[in-house]
Amino acid sequence: MKIHEYQGKELLKKFGVTVPRGFPAFSVDEAVEAAEKLGGPVWVVKAQIHAGGRGKGGGVKLARSIEEVRTLANEILGMQLITHQTGPEGQKVGRLLIEEGADIKKELYIGIVTDRATQKIGVMASSEGGMDIEEVAHNTPEKLLKVFVDPVVGLTDEDAATLIRGIGVPEASVPQAVDQLKKLYQVYQETDASLAEINPLILTGSGDIIALDAKFNFDPNALFRHPDIVAYRDLAEEDPAEIEASKFDLAYIQLEGNIGCLVNGAGLAMATMDTIKLFGGEPANFLDVGGGATAEKVTEAFKIMLKNPDVKAILVNIFGGIMRCDVIAEGVITACRAVDLKVPLVVRMKGTNEALGKELLAKSGLPIISADSMAEAATKVVAAAAAAAK
Ligand code: ADP
Ligand code: MG
Repeated sequence: MKIHEYQGKELLKKFGVTVPRGFPAFSVDEAVEAAEKLGGPVWVVKAQIHAGGRGKGGGVKLARSIEEVRTLANEILGMQLITHQTGPEGQKVGRLLIEEGADIKKELYIGIVTDRATQKIGVMASSEGGMDIEEVAHNTPEKLLKVFVDPVVGLTDEDAATLIRGIGVPEASVPQAVDQLKKLYQVYQETDASLAEINPLILTGSGDIIALDAKFNFDPNALFRHPDIVAYRDLAEEDPAEIEASKFDLAYIQLEGNIGCLVNGAGLAMATMDTIKLFGGEPANFLDVGGGATAEKVTEAFKIMLKNPDVKAILVNIFGGIMRCDVIAEGVITACRAVDLKVPLVVRMKGTNEALGKELLAKSGLPIISADSMAEAATKVVAAAAAAAK
């Protein structure tokens, strides 16, 4: 789960990380009010969306008067902000952060991420802050310093100091920067974040270290123990289909292809998508209906999949273990009738009560294409999608 910059800064502040003074604003009047509370002479008007690269996209602007704050707030609020992370359609700006302007001497980068490869916590720092850090990592990897921390041991003073000195922080500011990095590590750990990033972390003219941006991702599996973070959720930033799916306890992720997939079990869902690709097709989604798929759940799953106008054919791939194939078949039939299915549907089922399930599908009178193996199912659905796309 992602949160906004202003929320991330609230969290940082709680843990003792220095952030500029600022207030969120949901309207132009609130923006002006915030600017008045802050006092000048320089303010920054910042679009709040769940994507980075806002500066380059025109979503972060400097104002030198209250009038200018008003003009910029008017411009940015409601705009469709396009950044390299939003996709070409952009994201509508519904909130602003009005912040005091900082005296930037140098922009640095610090970030913490869960590293699956080493099963450790990757703590990173760079002298090249403010820019696209993926680009730095790609073009000049020597400028992105990393240490991999054992979560049992935690980030040591030595490792933190090595990183901070390594990115050229002047000696007088090293203790402050080390302290900020260690506090970021603490936020990351205590909130069950999977990513905590400050880009830029700045060195000011007077030698202070301040977090000018804040980006967090949280592990959804740990959210149950962080109601304060769940409260930060902004549904306007999320994919409506994924929100709808989560209401029915379905795991749904929309993708770019045109073959809808409905599968029970995440592993089988991944294998199904791989097989579709192997046979030249592109999956339109990942969808795991889970072990306890009822007719109602399958119907909702169909509805969600079909909201995607790109879907040209559907593949249902079910392994009947505890969940019997006849129950799934009934679910599929009910769902097809309920949504008045217009696209070709290929069904493959294996396992408990397989014969009974197939018989129910055949007798239903619905134009269901049945398949026995994964390869056969993929071949048939790829062909059906190609024919429908013509
Ligand atoms: P994004 O990463 O989405 O582009 P940032 O919050 O990093 O957004 O802002 C982009 C740039 O704008 C920063 O690198 C910094 O140069 C400038 N900036 C952001 N906040 C402030 C501020 N409070 N004072 C001065 N400059 C700022
Ligand atoms: Mg940034």
